[in-house]
Amino acid sequence: MKSNKQRRQEIKAHRLRRIAQKARLINARPVDRPIGTVAVTPALLRPTNSYSIPDFVQRGYYQDRPFRCKDCGVEEIWTAAQQQWWYEQAQGDVWTVAVHCRACRQQERTRKAEARRIHLAGLTMKSASTGCET
Ligand SMILES: [Zn+2]
Repeated sequence: MKSNKQRRQEIKAHRLRRIAQKARLINARPVDRPIGTVAVTPALLRPTNSYSIPDFVQRGYYQDRPFRCKDCGVEEIWTAAQQQWWYEQAQGDVWTVAVHCRACRQQERTRKAEARRIHLAGLTMKSASTGCET
């Protein structure tokens, strides 16, 4: 039987191997990338606890991604530039992808803003009538 110390060393060695492997995959940048794609800057991505690597990081560039809207079923393309914005500027989770078309997202934003406005107006009215401080 192995001692706890031996087991700990094994786990540590394994973990270091995994990290080195991950770094190798990320650093294996393709020299050429197709026209219309945008290069990925892994350092700008939001950190993830996952051991797997998203396909675009492994590939080294974002490419246009066609999808069908979950709500209205319209076909749309999530462009490479939009993906770069989502993952690198907006710090979106690297495992998320676009599922709603632009029109549906806009509609949902408007609906949420309106719901929030009504909710806050209701709270104001309630605190005014009960005299509670918020
Ligand atoms: Zn839609």
